[in-house]
Amino acid sequence: MDRATRVVVLTGAGISTESGIPDFRGPQGVWTKNPQAEKLSNIHYYMADPEVRKASWKARLEHPAWNAKPNAGHFALAELEKRGKLHALITQNIDEFHQMAGNSPDKVLEVHGTVRKVVCMACGMTAPMQKALDRVRAGEEDPPCRDCGGILKSATISFGQQLVPELIERAMRAAGEADLFFTVGTSLQVYPIAGAVELANGAGAKIVILNAEPTPFDEIADAVFREPIGALLPKLLQP
Ligand code: NAD
Repeated sequence: MDRATRVVVLTGAGISTESGIPDFRGPQGVWTKNPQAEKLSNIHYYMADPEVRKASWKARLEHPAWNAKPNAGHFALAELEKRGKLHALITQNIDEFHQMAGNSPDKVLEVHGTVRKVVCMACGMTAPMQKALDRVRAGEEDPPCRDCGGILKSATISFGQQLVPELIERAMRAAGEADLFFTVGTSLQVYPIAGAVELANGAGAKIVILNAEPTPFDEIADAVFREPIGALLPKLLQP
């Protein structure tokens, strides 16, 4: 880490579990405990079934992100940027905790979007999530777009939905430019972004993996750590 000058970090849901936001596939994961919940993350069910949308809005009202805060792991990555070593922070998370911890928005590549905004699936209008949630609290179970009547959804990438090609390109380009590629709290099962590890490795970067459970890339990694992120990351990144 001391020698590295272009660190690219890839984070996943595991960095936010210590803030109280469950991951999907860990032992306490949302899908591990309730496989049906996966339906709420699938664009086809969401667009076709008003009952799925109503359930999604209910779940958004209760989303743990509204009352949670970034933790020591997020702050350690903000420090890494202050030291001038962070080339890019690719995140699969939708909670915006990296920006809240102090990473600059231009370093953070949110490849799965953000839950703090809504988007209209018909006209593309975007608006703050809290405004839509106010409408749900006021009794609209599935609030439509105020501009065109279209279906509103959180500005996240659901399963079955297209990723934003420019963002994926930027993430992959950054991975290819890294001298150290560091994955934090991700099971590395979701493609294409998991492919960034292979790409960085092929381009000669050292690979470091910090995740409580094994990942498919542990064998090609130069170092693998299993400790809790909030405790280990600040120590690992200390100058
Ligand atoms: P994942 O659920 O597939 O994997 C998370 C991994 O983190 C697990 O392997 C788990 O063992 C590990 N982990 C959990 N807490 C940890 C800790 N404290 N210390 C060390 N390791 C820990 O998550 P993923 O790979 O990010 O993929 C899931 C998808 O779900 C992502 O695409 C993301 O968009 C979405 N998601 C986001 C959030 C969020 O924004 N906070 C939360 C849940 C899901």
